[in-house]
Amino acid sequence: MSNYKFFDQVNKAFDKAAAYTKFDTGLLEQLKACNAVLHIAFPLKRDDGTIEVIQGWRVQHSHHKLPTKGGIRYSMMVNEDETMALAALMTYKCAVVDVPFGGAKGGIMINKAKYSDAELERITRRYTFELYKKNFIGPATDVPAPDYGTGAREMGWILDTYRQLSDELNADGCVTGKPLEQGGIRGRTEATGRGVFFGIQEACDNAEDMKEIGLERGVEGKTFVIQGLGNVGYHAAKNLYDAGAILVGVAEVEGSIYSKKGINLDALMEYRAEKGVITGFEGTKTLKDSGSVLKSECDILIPAALENQLNIKNANSIKAKIIGEAANGPTTIDAHEIIKNRGALIIPDNYLNAGGVTVSYFEWLKNIQHVRFGRLGKRFEEDSYRKILSVIEAVSERQFSDKELKILAKGGGEEDLVDSGLKDTMITSYNQINEIRKVHNVDLRTAAFINAIEKLGNIYERMGIFP
Ligand code: GLU
Repeated sequence: MSNYKFFDQVNKAFDKAAAYTKFDTGLLEQLKACNAVLHIAFPLKRDDGTIEVIQGWRVQHSHHKLPTKGGIRYSMMVNEDETMALAALMTYKCAVVDVPFGGAKGGIMINKAKYSDAELERITRRYTFELYKKNFIGPATDVPAPDYGTGAREMGWILDTYRQLSDELNADGCVTGKPLEQGGIRGRTEATGRGVFFGIQEACDNAEDMKEIGLERGVEGKTFVIQGLGNVGYHAAKNLYDAGAILVGVAEVEGSIYSKKGINLDALMEYRAEKGVITGFEGTKTLKDSGSVLKSECDILIPAALENQLNIKNANSIKAKIIGEAANGPTTIDAHEIIKNRGALIIPDNYLNAGGVTVSYFEWLKNIQHVRFGRLGKRFEEDSYRKILSVIEAVSERQFSDKELKILAKGGGEEDLVDSGLKDTMITSYNQINEIRKVHNVDLRTAAFINAIEKLGNIYERMGIFP
């Protein structure tokens, strides 16, 4: 859809929420505006010697807190409007989950599959070089991360390039989602999907809210459909699946599959690793196109791919009671109204997929602290628990086995602390926005925007406006 304007969509959702806040129009306009937009074009020498022009963007939406933060995506859909919309969503998302960053986003308009690994490395390094020259990267200015089409490998290239250009002491903090050996953090890869799970679980555990949409309490036994088995989609699905939810449908680029009885996710992943596609997987029905499965009967639908997936064309056919927006901007404003008016609960992107940036925040903290979480306290905690347990043994008949001691006297290591911080963030923020939803009698997306606008507005009122 060429006339689809993603940034307008984000701003419309913002405006709806802004009406519930006390800020004047001028300030609200400033909150919505992208503070800095960088568009670059640079040459790539392809492996065969020919030269191609590569287009890239980086948008810093809000400087109310620094650094600005947000992923870098590689896709043919990347353009200035998309990057601006995604950068704005980062600002609101960070505000909702109290991650102290402004929002940013970057993108390179390429079809990854058409380039060799060496070419992708050259593109990534040159892009980083351009960002550096324009002051669009650095631990205190702007910190990229993975997004659609990028992962730890690309982040490793970005850090390495930055290191060659800068002697900054905190250089490791110039990018997050890095490989562990380059200053990454345990749990970052899984973080967005796991956060999506914690958010959906928190919603499902609220008996009163479930009653409103005619569902029983709890995630267990609920059927779900996932669109996109990439990093976010896979980990969201895997966590739900392990918690006892039933995967009934999967959509991927090549097509979609459905099975009322449930799909074995682990077996499906093995099948895809071998065949390269999900279609034709045993025990499932292959549907005629990728989008068909979104319309199937299920309790939870999780769009975990790209924007504009639930739109005016298919919204009337969506049957799910809960929409879990793992992707950024998967539901258009029109579709949102249609699905909401049918009585479904939409758990919005600006809250639900914030687990990624939350753990990025932990990674950045680790980098600027130059120490791994748990390094100082883990052994101390373990020893303290052991002392308490031995007192319990001394005053009771109970003798703990080695296995029990291992579980009971566990100190928090990096992976435990990251997971605990992520879980707490997702639960606390859900309850904050759910409270606002009830106070103003609005939907969760509007509630999340109200929450973000209030936090941002209070900061902006005191800053950056020269007399
Ligand atoms: N790309 C992810 C997002 O859209 C993560 C951003 C980050 O970690 O900075 O939220």
